[in-house]
Amino acid sequence: MDKQLKINVYWLATLLLLLFVFRLIGDYTLLIENVYFGYVYKFISGALRLITGWLPFSLGDVFYSIVILLVLLNTIKFVRTLIKTKEKRWTRLLSGLVKAGYLFIGAYLIFQICWGFNYFREPLSEQMNISTEKVEKEQLTQLALFLAKRVNETHLKLTNDSLKQYKSTLSTTDLYEIAKTGYKEYPSFNFKFYSTKTSLYKKLMNYSGIGGYYNPFSGEAQVNTDPPKFSLPFTICHEMAHQSGISAEQEANFVGYLTALKTNNTFFIYSAELEAFMYTAGELGRMDSVARKQCYRSLNKGVKEDIKEYRKFWMSYSSAIEPYFEWYYDWFLKTNNQPKGIRSYNEFVNLLVGYYDQKSMAQNK
Ligand SMILES: [Zn+2]
Repeated sequence: MDKQLKINVYWLATLLLLLFVFRLIGDYTLLIENVYFGYVYKFISGALRLITGWLPFSLGDVFYSIVILLVLLNTIKFVRTLIKTKEKRWTRLLSGLVKAGYLFIGAYLIFQICWGFNYFREPLSEQMNISTEKVEKEQLTQLALFLAKRVNETHLKLTNDSLKQYKSTLSTTDLYEIAKTGYKEYPSFNFKFYSTKTSLYKKLMNYSGIGGYYNPFSGEAQVNTDPPKFSLPFTICHEMAHQSGISAEQEANFVGYLTALKTNNTFFIYSAELEAFMYTAGELGRMDSVARKQCYRSLNKGVKEDIKEYRKFWMSYSSAIEPYFEWYYDWFLKTNNQPKGIRSYNEFVNLLVGYYDQKSMAQNK
């Protein structure tokens, strides 16, 4: 065997073995919870946020740009030498493919160490004793109506006029600062050193249908600030939930919701309640579209304007790349202990039902 090919196969085999070991570790929830989350993740992510937090731009986005550029340049270089080479062309091709394979697995392993093991933590529903059993239509209708009532009340506090759409004057920096207060009020989700950034790839995110993402290699919470402003507080709090070690999307939505309410800022509360309403009404609509419409009808006109603007925004960016991105992301979540894939975002509604059930039970005692 060619010497270089031999070295590459050795690396691939070693990293595949490590990947296998990592998967085995993932089965030990207590180990992940107490050792990985308790020490390793907290240390790594804290150090990353300490390094990136003070920078006014997203270092993670710059890092991704460099990586993509290097991958492209090296691929072009590899193809060119392959065309020029007369001897051992197949051996070189195989060697290159094996190298690409181990580099990909290597990056995935670093991702697991920096954040990915959090996917194997104890579910939040168990930690908070929230029941997330199958939710019935009646429960969804009640929750949607309850949230609609709260959204209407909060909207009135902001506008004093149910017909008027609220236009916030807060800057994104203000929003990042307010989000911190919600986390400070919630010690179980709070973390040291904050690092929330506006992404450099907003347009690309618009076309892919992404509101924000967490960069595990830089520890930064990336926010797409292009969508209608009312949705930003919830997105910011969602991405910060990922920083606090919450990986499951439905849990990040739930923690985002709870922390946004804790900010005591009316605009944040409005954002969280309206997002929770849209998720709940969406799930209800899967069972009964008439019931969903009725819930929407109960909203203030000004709130409906916000929803209209939100839909219009995302519709205007619907693109050919979106389904491919969704397919990839669905696969990514499914391979990372999220069996529901992209649908897991909606399981947020089950947490909400369980949470408010628990609250009303406590009040009735
Ligand atoms: Zn997320």
